[in-house]
Amino acid sequence: MTESLVQTLWSAGCIIWSGKAIVAKDGTLTWVGEMKYDPPFVWLKAALEQGQPFDLLWEHLRVDEDSKRWKSAIFAAIKNKEQVVNTEYRIQLGEGNTAWFCEQLRVELQPDGSIDLNAFVTDVTESRRKAEEVRTLAFYDTVTGLINRTRIHDLIGEVLVTQPKVGVIGIEISNFRSINESWGAEIGDSVLKETAKALADSVGQQGIVGRLAGDDFVVIVPDDSIMTQLVNRLDEVCQRPSQVEGVDIVKVCRMGYVISEPGETAVGLIRKANLALENARKNQSPFAVAYKPEMSFRAKMRVELETAMRQALMDGEFYLMFQPIVDNKSGQVVKAEALLRWNSSRFGAVSPGTFIPIAEESDFINDLGNFVIDETAKKIALLQKELGDPTFAISMNLSLRQLKNPATLNIFKAAMQRHNITPANMIIEVTESSIMHDAGECVSMLNMLRDSGFMLAIDDFGTGYSSLATLASLPFGCLKIDKRFVDGIGIDRKQEEVLQTIIRLARALNLQIVAEGIEHKAQYEFLRELDVEFSQGYFFAKPLGFEDLLSRCRPDALAA
Ligand code: C2E
Ligand code: MG
Ligand code: MG
Repeated sequence: MTESLVQTLWSAGCIIWSGKAIVAKDGTLTWVGEMKYDPPFVWLKAALEQGQPFDLLWEHLRVDEDSKRWKSAIFAAIKNKEQVVNTEYRIQLGEGNTAWFCEQLRVELQPDGSIDLNAFVTDVTESRRKAEEVRTLAFYDTVTGLINRTRIHDLIGEVLVTQPKVGVIGIEISNFRSINESWGAEIGDSVLKETAKALADSVGQQGIVGRLAGDDFVVIVPDDSIMTQLVNRLDEVCQRPSQVEGVDIVKVCRMGYVISEPGETAVGLIRKANLALENARKNQSPFAVAYKPEMSFRAKMRVELETAMRQALMDGEFYLMFQPIVDNKSGQVVKAEALLRWNSSRFGAVSPGTFIPIAEESDFINDLGNFVIDETAKKIALLQKELGDPTFAISMNLSLRQLKNPATLNIFKAAMQRHNITPANMIIEVTESSIMHDAGECVSMLNMLRDSGFMLAIDDFGTGYSSLATLASLPFGCLKIDKRFVDGIGIDRKQEEVLQTIIRLARALNLQIVAEGIEHKAQYEFLRELDVEFSQGYFFAKPLGFEDLLSRCRPDALAA
């Protein structure tokens, strides 16, 4: 280094020193050295004025562990015939304060075995503090102070390397949105902070708590043997309300957990914990749900089925079957319900109980539903032409998502026009359970459909726990009694009584009644005696292809 450069470094606040190191026979390294120029720091100057030479002082103030590292770096440089050693070490300033120094050291092995040392040393405390701040921002969640998503992923990855079985627990505050809406975002943040602290306190040294996003927390448990005990403890914590500004805020938490398998990745483990959590949420489980392999299978199937369904709709794999609905007085088939079928080239016949819920989870139900609307309208027109009966009606099922879709009314109207039929020939069924969840959101679409002339039927009645007030306020014209009540006829006195109550209720609300799932003559007769107008069930016919429906509808055909 030239003298002028050394001067510049010194005036920029560097300590410049030179000296010698000697390696004794037993392998220990000792060194001596002295500063060129005056010390650039007041505290160092003051310390030196006490009479101790620079090398002894430095060795005395340097954190022991860092001294060892510094010496090892010199050994390594000599061994590798390298001349420059870059190290960072801490110097104790007293009162628990330490400063970080970065040292660039030139080492030259001399023929006599001694080592020449020349160094300049910079105080890097401030830049390290800034770097630490950046690290905090990058790895810690600013609201709760817990580790964030990035760090959670990294940490799980790190723990997986050393531990054979790692537990991951996912926790969410399911009612967080409503807490935020009713108490405001500030209180919402306090609930997150309080929950974070309660979780961290409960986990203690047995794991690490992080916040993935929003109200999603994660606990990483390096030792799986304590999982059951820890999950139970966290369960208790989650059930306690959060105390914020003296108010108890009740939380509804869901929990899912998983223990790693050999070869697991951080991403895979978090995904599994999430699937278990999803399962807890869907089933509103009050207990923590353990991950099971079939959850992954189902999730994979769901994605596969959804992709396949989109293709299947284009390939014409969907079609309608029609289940006759009989007029109990005349015994004639006067209506039918259109039921969707999927004959998949890949999976074979897939039941609507499987594919409809998957379609309903995504917007695809709108595309699929549009097909059903159009196809039903088309078949109504054909039936009218074939039977010469302008009153024959076909019932079709509408999903909640379609009801919430503002385009639905126009889709129906366009189908009516396209096939030249009137809304009086179409009945729209909506299940009780779907509507009672979001009655407020659907009521305007239901009213518009009714005002346009469609008959609305409430499907699977008796399974949705609707309130009478809601039921009375909605524009239904028909009630379909769920099969479970029909099943009770002649077997279960209580079910029979409920059935009779439902019938009285429908009468009071001026609704037509269709009984579903009639399989036996006795059930049919029981219902006829109660003046139920219409029946549907395997006793009359299973869902039929269109041609079979036609032949069942001809005036000369008998109902059963
Ligand atoms: P749902 O609307 O209540 O339809 C009646 C279901 O009961 C049909 O099942 C029918 O085949 C079955 N069923 C009728 N009579 C009997 C009987 O006597 N015994 C027994 N065991 N079952 C009987 P499916 O076709 O499997 O449909 C299941 C559900 O899928 C339907 O229940 C409906 O909620 C839904 N679904 C079917 N097609 C569509 C559609 O186009 N759109 C929508 N959104 N949902 C549909
Ligand atoms: Mg139905
Ligand atoms: Mg039904």
